[in-house]
Amino acid sequence: MAIKFPIYMDNNATTPVDPRVLEAMLPYFSEKYGNAASRSHSYGWTAEAAVESARETLTKFVGGSSPKEIVFTSGATEADNLAIKGVAEYLGSKGNHIITSAIEHKAVLDTCKRLQRQGFEVTYLPVGKSGLVDPDDVRKAITDKTILVSIMLVNNEVGTWQPVDEIGAITHEKGVLFHTDAVQGLGKVPFDVESSHVDLVSMSAHKMYGPKGVGALWVRRAKPRIRLVAQMDGGGHEHGMRSGTLNVPGIVGFGKAAELSAKELPEESSRLLRLREKLRTGIQGSLEETFVNGSIERRMPGNLNVSFAFVEGEAMMMAIKDVAVSSGSACTSASLEPSYVLKAMGVGDELAHSSIRFGLGRFTTEEEVDYVARLVVEKVKGLRELSPLYEMFKEGVDLKSLQWSAEH
Ligand SMILES: *Cc1c(COP(=O)(O)O)cnc(C)c1O
Repeated sequence: MAIKFPIYMDNNATTPVDPRVLEAMLPYFSEKYGNAASRSHSYGWTAEAAVESARETLTKFVGGSSPKEIVFTSGATEADNLAIKGVAEYLGSKGNHIITSAIEHKAVLDTCKRLQRQGFEVTYLPVGKSGLVDPDDVRKAITDKTILVSIMLVNNEVGTWQPVDEIGAITHEKGVLFHTDAVQGLGKVPFDVESSHVDLVSMSAHKMYGPKGVGALWVRRAKPRIRLVAQMDGGGHEHGMRSGTLNVPGIVGFGKAAELSAKELPEESSRLLRLREKLRTGIQGSLEETFVNGSIERRMPGNLNVSFAFVEGEAMMMAIKDVAVSSGSACTSASLEPSYVLKAMGVGDELAHSSIRFGLGRFTTEEEVDYVARLVVEKVKGLRELSPLYEMFKEGVDLKSLQWSAEH
């Protein structure tokens, strides 16, 4: 099969809609267009039945016990906001301390920052080189004022798979609520709310081959029953937790995406692991001074995040523009900032700027992986030939002894 360019290897940013998902969604745009909240006619009932079916699928998908635990949202950004602000408002009189990690998604970090301005105290747990939270740090950080721990299932940049089972056991023992942003892990690594003792789970359809603009928050309703304070006022949909007319086609697609992901997880994850390792060994086997960021063992199968020493990030991105990937530099308004995730893991600015995130997915082929591995090796070798620092390194100059980083 001919390769289509640019080759899409950014599946941690978003995934294409699976054709089977699209097919399931289509009737809900044109023929079955009812409002799921309309109780007086069959258009409404048809839409409601489709939504309820998706709700059941998603409940099973995360190992929940009642479809009432699913609160549909516009995506995981909203689910993260609702989980954290909703708990803060619900339990604010009991305590004002929240624990999270330094490498959470901005939807969690910026929500926590807003709460800090409102008087909450937030502990941002560090992660080491491995990109993993130490459950013992969670235990030590919990005080009698702690109301919530929020730790993601899988990190979106480095793919590290957090020890949520151990963290959940601790929060459970201490009687503190546990939220996990599970967006990157769902359908990629085994997960269920019981073995992880999770109370709130954020999900997003478009990271698992569903459509953009739809997500959900799973909210535990028994032991303990959580009464989140809604952040959106209106018609009182979703058991009063999130008002707004439901995105019926999106929800149908989300349900279908979950059904497929659950069914295909074992086979898909071993295929992706094999391809990811092929890419990694293809690159590392031919290029020295190339570093994988974050634990390779505790990592989702499709993610590879690599830093290339002696290569400039921008030049690298230009050189491999036939491949759609993300870099470890975030363009802020004025400057090129290194990724806060890599920074928190202790990766220096130079190596953070030269890092590339490869996100393999359901539709990534072996030919594409072979092509990308070859391309990366060739381009990095070419760029390094132009690098005076690389030349010095090859000549055995101890670069650490040179005060060169300050001038950069
Ligand atoms: C993509 C992503 C989000 C945001 O999800 P949206 O549905 O796009 O709002 C939140 N958390 C993580 C870890 C993500 O990867």
